[in-house]
Amino acid sequence: QDRIVIVGAGQAGAQVAQSLRMGGFEGEVVLIGDEPHPPYQRPPLSKKHLAGAIEDEALHLRPAAFYEQNRIECRFDVKVTGIDRAARELALSDGETVSYDRLVLATGTRPRTLSLPGAELAGVVSLRTIADVEAMRPVLLRPGRIAIVGAGYIGLEVAAVARSLGHEVVVVEAQDRVMKRVVSPALSAFFEDLHRKNGVELMLGTGISGFAGDETGQVRGVLLADGQEIACDLALVAVGAAPNDELAAAAGLDVDDGILVDGAGQTSDPAIYAAGDCTRFFSGRYGRSIRLESVQNAIDQAKAVAAALTGAEEDYDPVPWFWSDQYAIKLQIAGLSDGYDETRVVGDPAEGGGFYVAYLADGRLIAADSVNHPRSHMMARRAIGKPFTDDLLPAA
Ligand code: FAD
Repeated sequence: QDRIVIVGAGQAGAQVAQSLRMGGFEGEVVLIGDEPHPPYQRPPLSKKHLAGAIEDEALHLRPAAFYEQNRIECRFDVKVTGIDRAARELALSDGETVSYDRLVLATGTRPRTLSLPGAELAGVVSLRTIADVEAMRPVLLRPGRIAIVGAGYIGLEVAAVARSLGHEVVVVEAQDRVMKRVVSPALSAFFEDLHRKNGVELMLGTGISGFAGDETGQVRGVLLADGQEIACDLALVAVGAAPNDELAAAAGLDVDDGILVDGAGQTSDPAIYAAGDCTRFFSGRYGRSIRLESVQNAIDQAKAVAAALTGAEEDYDPVPWFWSDQYAIKLQIAGLSDGYDETRVVGDPAEGGGFYVAYLADGRLIAADSVNHPRSHMMARRAIGKPFTDDLLPAA
């Protein structure tokens, strides 16, 4: 049996290690991650954990004993800095080298940053890790004013948490509606209304030109494109994520906004696989190459990679799904909606009960966004790709 090394100890890396053992792999498994923590779940970082409702340990995907019992050799707080494919050897930031027979890259993404004046000020933050939450906590613990740049999921989830903690919150978004990249106008309108009712100041269609700081180097405000300054004690930049694919690119693997993999998670080097947010693959279901950033994809693609590594080839072509919690609202998304030519809104968003939006292309269901309506979400996950009929999904 050979030695499989996994780079990146997040949702996907941990799942590959676990699934290798579940699949009966008897060789060595080494899991290397550059964070000081064992693998943990990130979704609560912008939800309950940020609100202070869960401890760090409760985020851990598995207790420490799990890795020991399953003979998963863990090396945390150390970064892989290079891959020597000819020697099948990794260089680590602590100067050591680690050899592999087969390698899995599960390096995730990192927040996109803005190269604008003042972006380096203390208090201009982004949110991806436990360390990021720790950096935000001191400000969140005292009354203040939080500015959020970007009205995507993470920005809006943080806005909801910050309001629940009693902060004044302003969200600045360059697009003319919230979550524009992923949801329909009806959904954006619903969430804009929700946030405004909860006291969030939403500035849509508003570009920023930088950040203003005080004499100690602490952020004091967000500067809008028109010169106005929006005062704040903390500025969260939540403008999307970029794949950590540089390690792969430097090793000569094919990358294109993500490490390119096939349906088995194999890269352009047959000894190297990749899984999770850092990958891009062709979806037969959607007829294009996609890069997903979700727990669903991290887990399911990791399972496909582990299956391929233990000889049980799969063709990974998922129905993507995702969720977002904002106040008492749970948004659940099944499928990918871009390219829709028609939407059906089932239920009344204004009534306060559950509703959903079905997205159709050529009469077929390609995605559904469910708001406090879990039944339609579960049914949509099985119905993606089918011709849309009135009884394909449940009534409101
Ligand atoms: P990650 O979990 O990011 O793990 C990658 C790991 O690799 C990281 O620890 C990274 O530091 C490490 N690494 C990178 N390069 C190296 C290197 N060279 N050497 C060593 N280690 C390295 N998804 C949902 O489905 N629903 C949600 O509600 C949701 N909410 C989210 C909220 C927040 C605030 C964030 C940040 C993400 C959220 N996501 C959500 C997305 C989800 O967390 C990710 O899709 C998932 O974590 C991806 O797993 P991954 O293993 O690919 O990457």
